[in-house]
Amino acid sequence: MAYDSNNIFAKILRGEASCISVYEDDHTLAFMDLMPQADGHVLIIPKEAAENLLDLSEAGAQACIRTTRRVAIAVKKALGVEGIHVAQLNGAAAGQTVPHCHFHVIPHATGTVLRMHAAIRAPEETLKAMAERIKACLA
Ligand code: 5GP
Repeated sequence: MAYDSNNIFAKILRGEASCISVYEDDHTLAFMDLMPQADGHVLIIPKEAAENLLDLSEAGAQACIRTTRRVAIAVKKALGVEGIHVAQLNGAAAGQTVPHCHFHVIPHATGTVLRMHAAIRAPEETLKAMAERIKACLA
């Protein structure tokens, strides 16, 4: 299927929609998920127009996994959790709801249950506070 350039992440990349970012380089952008499954949930997207991992170039995939690893290390340190959940869904059948490739980095503390996927919007001040803590660990 053709890439839909009206999806929300494409709008964020073009600066037409806002996001609370934590990291950016030439090939990727990382920002807070609006409906986090746990506090500190970050999304990593390629700047390349690709609907999912299967459509992404090898260079784009390498850039994404590099940023995902870097963000995961920072989230673990910032939140002080024991576990980090990394997820990546391909296609609506697999549960993908935004048709621009992305990786989820979700802190997972021992004994906790993640909130439902894309269900509860977090207060902006909570997201901003989390972003500051994560950015401080992304040195
Ligand atoms: P998917 O279901 O495609 O794997 O994940 C999409 C993710 O994007 C969900 O976790 C959802 O909470 C998040 N999301 C949806 N719309 C927005 C938005 O406008 N801004 C941000 N920052 N996250 C969004």
